Parts: sequence; structure tokens; C-alpha cells
Amino acid sequence: MSADDTIVAIATPPGRGGIGVVRLSGARAIEIVSSLIRFSKAPLETQRATRGDFVETDSGRVLDHVVVTCFRRPRSYTGEDVAEVSCHGSPVVLRYFAECCLGCSQERAGGSVRTADPGEFTMRAFLNGRIDLTEAEAIRDLIQSQTLYQARVAAQQMGGALSHRLRPHKQALVALIATLEAGIDFAEDDLPVSSWAEIASHLEAIQTDLGKLVEGYAYGRIVREGLTLAIVGRPNVGKSSLFNRLLNEERAIVTAIPGTTRDLVTESAAVGGIPVRLVDTAGIRETTDAVEAMGVERSRQAIADSDLRLLVVDAAEGWTQADRQLLSEMLPLGALVVACNKSDLPRRGSEVEIAGMLSDGRTPAVVRTSALTGAGVSELRSRILELVAPTRDLASDGAFLTDARHQQLVQQSLASLARARSAAADRVPHEMLLLDLYDALRALDTLTGATTVDDLLGVIFSTFCVGK
Ligand code: GDP
Repeated sequence: MSADDTIVAIATPPGRGGIGVVRLSGARAIEIVSSLIRFSKAPLETQRATRGDFVETDSGRVLDHVVVTCFRRPRSYTGEDVAEVSCHGSPVVLRYFAECCLGCSQERAGGSVRTADPGEFTMRAFLNGRIDLTEAEAIRDLIQSQTLYQARVAAQQMGGALSHRLRPHKQALVALIATLEAGIDFAEDDLPVSSWAEIASHLEAIQTDLGKLVEGYAYGRIVREGLTLAIVGRPNVGKSSLFNRLLNEERAIVTAIPGTTRDLVTESAAVGGIPVRLVDTAGIRETTDAVEAMGVERSRQAIADSDLRLLVVDAAEGWTQADRQLLSEMLPLGALVVACNKSDLPRRGSEVEIAGMLSDGRTPAVVRTSALTGAGVSELRSRILELVAPTRDLASDGAFLTDARHQQLVQQSLASLARARSAAADRVPHEMLLLDLYDALRALDTLTGATTVDDLLGVIFSTFCVGK
């Protein structure tokens, strides 16, 4: 695979549609398009759309009316010459057009032509300095977004929100490194005490902000990946009705995402713009049947693996022994919300204070709901979000971590900064301190892609779709 090749791909999804786009990038992009398409006006103008006819070379027959948009380097998505050909969305014509482009692949000045690898257009944009790595990853996230909220977050990151947030810290580190390097090169004397204090305070400022970023990842991960919610409760308490309420009240219904518990996931919804996968737990009950027992075990595992559990009880009936049993099973597993459903009905049993049931004083969030009238459902949604995303406010500007790779690198940087701080406190020789500072800077550089390793690029860009 050579970066000098001109690459071609159908950029629109497979299937029929109003239009379909074939995209080319590289030195021969515009020449190839000009040889396959007849334009009424020559030469082809760049940075604007031009009407043309896609003509079969042997017969001269017109196969499609197309619109071509050419971009001259470096003012293009990839930073190379780019041509985007909008055909009518017939998969047959699109494939044939792409084949004709590839047919132009005889070695010529400007290199050969080949099919683009997944993400290769965006990889070229990165390699040509059009975007940094976080922006490239945000483009992928935008394409993969399932809710408008996810798309908004990705769009902010695509605009460089995370890089902007990191930039001052990188600059501060570079300045600090420069000062210390200069001190080593040019001065015999040690730093005065005031400078040690200055170094420590610079480091502390960076640590504080990076620490906040890491904290926000709990939320960022869920924004990007969605969360799994297990609805647990006795039969007939209103679990399905309640989930349907959650589902109906938010219009952005998302499709199921394959996951480890796929066979248990029945439906997906969006809550506060976050995709929520429902884990069906209908199978939970005591059983002596071996096969059923396996199903129950799998359900239990799925409940334990969920990000959050929603225990539904029948408020009209009050707490039963079975509810108590479920509550005590759910509590040790982590975040839990209790919905006292059917709150529209007159209470038949006595209401039991949940707090009183728990010996260690822990109380889960409790919301009274009625799946019938919708009362309490929006409060339920808020409590769900509060529990999974306590740092939601932090995240308002989109400059937060949504990606495990980013989170690991910021943590690496923080660890190096912590070592640098203690080195500074011990007044160790500058050479030693510098090693830690370089490490801290390198982690942030790897995050934005200033220092990259080919392996890393392969991993990131292979998660893109073809044509992007
Ligand atoms: P599941 O077995 O826990 O999933 O319970 P369902 O959602 O199937 O509901 C069982 C029954 O309770 C159905 O007849 C629902 O219409 C009814 N139901 C569910 N939620 C409410 C509620 O909030 N109020 C009232 N009055 N009935 C409800």
C-alpha cells in the first residue's frame, strides 16, 4: 500500500438510493475523472460542482448523468486532489464507474490507482496534517453516532475541542522543558528555590485539569458507547410497560448494538441522548430444570455486567418478600434505581421504607412511577442519567474524553506528571526531572497524533468505513 497511489471507493452505503458517490483522492484523481466523464465545458473547474455524462468508452453510450466536484490540493478533505462523482444511486452503475476508475491504473506519471482501504481518505487527511488524530476519531464517531446528542459531541470533537483543551498544557510542558534544558546547557548553578516552587505550581495546574478530564471519562464512555440497563422485577410489576415509556418519550430510537449479552438484549432506546440497551431479565427465577438454569445464570451474569439496574416493584402491592430478595441481590452489583410503579393505583399493602430494610444504611435512588399515566417517568430518566453520569455538567463543551485510548494516554501523562512533581519536591537533578516531563508530553502528543506509530494508525483507521 503506497501513499502515492490514487485511491477510489464508493463513499455512500451499499444499496440503492437517490444518489451514490464515488470518491477519488490522489495525484491522478482529476485526470481519471476527466477521462471517464464528458463535460460540456473544459477544463474542469475546481472547488465547484459540474454536470457531466458518464460515457461507456467502447460504445460512447451515456450511462448516467453525474455531478462532479473537484477539490485541488491542499484545499480538500484529504489534502490531495479529490474528485467526488455523484451518480444516480444504482449500485450497478456505481460499481462499474469505480471499476472504470481502477481500469485507468496502468503505471503513469502520478502513480497507480487502487481501491481505498477502510478509513484511508481520513488517514490521508491526518497524514497530510489536515486534521489531528482526535479529530479523525471524532469523524468516525460522528458517522457511527446513533443519537443526535452523540453526533453533537462528536461534531465538537471533530472541531478540535479536545485538542484545544490539551494545547495549553502541551505548551506549558514544552516551555518548562525548554527552561530546564537551557538551565542544563548554560548554567553551572542549581535552580533557586523559587524556581522549584514555580515548576511545582505549573505541574499542579496541568495535573488538576487533566485530572478533571479523566474524571469526565466515566460519562464520556457512556456517551460514546451507550449503556446497558437491566430491568429486574417480579412478573407483572410493569417492567415492559415502563421500558416502553422510556422508549416512547424519546423520539430518537436507536438500533440494537451487538454486544456480549446480545441474546439477552431485546430493545434499545435513547435516554438523554445516550443509547440505552435493555437487558431482558424475564428468565430470573428459581428452577430445577438444567437448561433453564443455564438461561437464568446467563441472565444473572448480564445483570451483573450491566452499567445500571432498574428494580421495578408494584407500589400498589407494597414490598413483597420476593422484592426484598431481588433488592438484596441487586444492591452489591452497583448502580441501582428502584421504580415503585403503578403509583396511579390505590395502595393495598403498606409502604415500606427502603432505608429501613438495609442494615448498612445504603439507599438506592427511588422513584415513584406510573407506566400507565407516564407520571414520574421523566424523573426516572433523570435519576438514570445522574447515576451513570454524575459528571455530566463537566461535559458541556464537548472537550471531554469519550475514547479509551484517550483516557489511557491522559492517565499515562498524569502518572508522569506525578513522578515529575515528586522529583521536583526532592530537587533531583534536572536531567531526571526532564525524563518525566518528556514522558508526560509524549503521552499527550500520541493522543493528538503529533508523534505516531504506524501500528496505532492501523488500528484506528481500520475501524472506519470504506470511502471515509
Ligand atoms: P412485566 O411483566 O413486569 O413486564 O409487566 P407488564 O409491563 O407486562 O405489565 C403488567 C400489567 O400491569 C399490564 O396489564 C400493564 O398494563 C399493567 N401496568 C403496567 N404498569 C402499570 C402502571 O403504572 N399502572 C397500572 N395501573 N397498570 C400498569
